[in-house]
Order: sequence, then structure tokens, then C-alpha cells
Amino acid sequence: MGDFSLDQIADLPLELCIGGKQVPASDSSRFDVHDPATGDVIASVADGSVDDALAAVAAAAGAAGAWAATAPRERSEILRRAFELMRDRSDELAHLISLENGKALPDARGEVAYAAEFFRWYAEEAVRASGSVMTAPSGANRIVVLQQPVGICVLVTPWNFPAAMATRKIGPALAAGCTVVLKPASDTPLTALLMAKILEDAGVPAGVVNVLPARRSGAVVSAMLHDPRVRKLSFTGSTEVGRVLLREAADQVVNCSMELGGNAPFLVLDDADLDDAVDGAMVAKMRNAGEACTAANRFYVHADVADEFSRRLAERMAALRVGPGTSDDTEIGPLVNEESAAKVASLVAGAVADGARIVLGGARPDRAGYYYEPTVLLDVPRTSGILGEEIFGPVAPVVTFTDEADAIRMANDTEFGLVSYVYTSDLARGMRISEALDSGMVGLNRGLVSDPAAPFGGTKQSGIGREGGHEGMLDYLESKYIAVSW
Ligand code: NAD
Repeated sequence: MGDFSLDQIADLPLELCIGGKQVPASDSSRFDVHDPATGDVIASVADGSVDDALAAVAAAAGAAGAWAATAPRERSEILRRAFELMRDRSDELAHLISLENGKALPDARGEVAYAAEFFRWYAEEAVRASGSVMTAPSGANRIVVLQQPVGICVLVTPWNFPAAMATRKIGPALAAGCTVVLKPASDTPLTALLMAKILEDAGVPAGVVNVLPARRSGAVVSAMLHDPRVRKLSFTGSTEVGRVLLREAADQVVNCSMELGGNAPFLVLDDADLDDAVDGAMVAKMRNAGEACTAANRFYVHADVADEFSRRLAERMAALRVGPGTSDDTEIGPLVNEESAAKVASLVAGAVADGARIVLGGARPDRAGYYYEPTVLLDVPRTSGILGEEIFGPVAPVVTFTDEADAIRMANDTEFGLVSYVYTSDLARGMRISEALDSGMVGLNRGLVSDPAAPFGGTKQSGIGREGGHEGMLDYLESKYIAVSW
């Protein structure tokens, strides 16, 4: 698309999307969206108020009965059309994601393909919400179990995958027969607004998908969670905000799915194929410049191979071209905002103060925008703060180990449990270690686990519930048991 500007997307909505209409905020508030590569303002978007949030819930409630009664086959075909429209518009969507989020175009293209697949997968699942029938053990009656839509859903998404985190929720919700209000992250509302347009073009009826950009996120989400019509919250974001929302949801006992933070360990055993391990590390660490909940956050490498692994990793990271996400030759874009870049800098400074050695990078480049250099840290002490927090940047801290049990213990020594990675040439050993790792997902000789057909989610404080796969739709369905005699 050459030099991309927003004017190239003629139908990009900048208002709230409520009940199939584009409307300004009730109090006329707006907020600016910035380009992370320069800090410049790229758009001004309607800033939803509490009144607007309740109007969006009313719209979702108004559409709920008809949507739940729409034939599963028809819901399926609408989702299939949404998949095709996303694929047709993938270049525009990728440029838009790069522009507002900062990620490099190859990452943005990957995200669009991944995001669209949730519509295809749930188009296929929409017709498979099967229940069951059995004879009660007493023989007195039959146990009939139906699957019914859980009801009106509030969906809250982060900025790091503005398209995929939305489709991973909207796809199964619509397939199950639920109507939704989506509140996208305020750093990246534009992709969500374009997704609303795509869904409308695919034939989603007015009110089924409402999109409410809002900078007053606490008040807006709280108001929706206290509206008795809302039955479900699906949240993806930090554990810190997740805890707040679980408390808010408690007041009306709202059903919660939580996809929260991670702190993924990446284990390289002494028998690992180092070419594979470095390839996997580049994906697990550098996809999205490290701004992924699944990002490898801590590298535990066997002492026999640590020097060689770190040398090769640093060589590959040094070769990455850093620049604005929307430039065709960029491989690593800027981080999303100043706060993120400052946090990465402070974590690296802390690790160095703790005794870590910088092998590569270790600074913010001297240019406008929110950049951080690809960085490799060696000899990171096991107690260093950088190993306990999500870095969310292109920084790889390496810790060595000699004993496998010690590596597993360190990997599990965190309140998070989203994903772990293991590299070994011995598959039986890899399976044994995978079973011992306390995380919802394991990449075994794989640096990428995300797949719309697989159940994505975490243990411990990384979340509750699963997205994707067959399990993903169950989160939007409720079992209804009918005790019946005939
Ligand atoms: P965040 O928690 O700051 O924000 C997430 C969303 O919640 C945004 O829409 C934000 O506006 C909203 N929000 C913020 N404060 C709120 C409040 N008080 N009440 C209601 N809503 C509020 O997270 P982020 O910075 O946007 O995203 C990064 C985080 O998301 C990381 O921790 C990352 O690990 C996590 N994440 C998890 C997954 C997963 O599937 N487990 C996927 C992507 C990102």
C-alpha cells in the first residue's frame, strides 16, 4: 500500500458503533490515537461514556432474542462471510494495525490471518453446539442437556493484538448465539471499529456487535458489569486489571473468562537442536517485538549449550531491522507507547544493577518514537526482578542451569501459568517435562502455540477459561438440564 495513511480506508468508522449506527459520544468527548513510531496523532475517536455503555447494552439486549433464535447455519454463514471479508481486506487491516499499534507489517499480516481464522473456525463450530440425553441412574427419568447462549457479553480487549483478541471473543460468542459489547483498548480502537464495519458488511444484524471505544474504561466497564442484563465478561489484559474486574463481576455474579498476563519460561536442554531452539526463540521472543502474553520472558539454558545458544540468538537479534511498523522492510517496530518503552528500560537497568551482562542492545535508540533495541542479557541472577515481571519488549534474559529438576522448579516459580516452551531432541523427556510444567499451554520444540483450533489459556493467575478450539465456544454456552419422563 506504499506510504499508508488512514485516508486509504474510506469506510473506517471513528464514532461509537451502537445498535448498527455510528454515533458520537453522548457528552461529545473524543480521544486521540497516536502513531507509536512518531508519537503523532493519527485520529480522533469518540470516547464512550457510561450512558453510551448502557445504551450499547440495551442495543445488545434488543438484538439478543432474534440472534439466539437465528438458525445456527445462518450464524455460521455470516461468520464465514466475515472471514472472507477479512481475508479480502487483509492488507488494509494489517496496515491499520501497524499504524496504531506499531508492530512490523509481517507481524500485522500474521495477526490478520490468525484473527480471521477465528471467524472461519467458529463458522464451523456454530452448527455443533450439541447437548446430550441419558437415562438417569435410577431409571426414573431422562436427563436432557441443552446448550443455550449464556446471554449478553461484555468483551474487553488489549492493544497488543487489536484484531485477534477481538475475533477470538466475537467469533465464539456469535456462533453460540450471544450478542456483545466490545470495549477495545484505547491505544488501538481503530482496528476494532473497522472490524465492526466488516461484521456489518458480512450480514451481522444491528445490535449484535456493538463497539465502544472508551478512555474512561474503569467507569464504563463497571457500569456494564452492574447492569443485570449482562451475563458474561470475557477479558484479555493484565492480571492487575483482571483482578479488579473479577471483583466488579462478583456483585452480579457475572460469568467470567479471563485471559491474563504471562511470564513464559523457555527451556533449552543440553540435547536440544540449537538451530531449532534459536529459530523458536526468535518467534517466541521477537514476534510483536516481545509484546505478547505468550512472549518468552525467561530463558533457562543448560550450561553446556548456554554460550553457543546466546551467541546465536544475539547474532540473529542484532540482524533485525528496527523501524516504523508500516515500512515494508521493518522487522521490529516501536513499542506501543512511552510508558511501555520506559518500563522495558527500567527492567533492563534493574537487571544490570543486579549483575546481568549486556551482550546486545540494552538501550533506547536515539530517535523519535517508542523504540527499544533488541537486547540479550547473560548471567542474569535468578532473583533479578526482570525474571518476575512481564517484560513486554524485545529483551531476552538468559539464566543457566545444570539440573533438569532445577530448571522445572525455576520455570514454575511464578504466579503466572500461561505458556512454557521446551527444546529437547528426546521427545519422551519433552513430554515428561511438559506434564510437569504448571502452565495452560506448552510449546514442545515449538516457539508458537497460538492456533484458533486449540484451547488457549492459562493456569494460576494467567486466567480462567479457554479461547479457541471446541472449548472456546463452551465459554459462551450454558448447559440447561431438563429432567423429563416420557
Ligand atoms: P490492560 O489490562 O491495561 O488493559 C486491557 C483492557 O482493559 C483495555 O481495553 C483497557 O482499556 C481495559 N482496562 C484498563 N483498566 C481497566 C479498568 N480499571 N476497568 C476496566 N477495563 C480496564 O492490558 P494491556 O496493557 O492493554 O495489554 C497487555 C496485557 O494483556 C499483558 O499483561 C498481556 O499479557 C495481556 N494479554 C493476555 C493475553 C492472553 O490471552 N492471556 C493476550 C494478550 C494480552
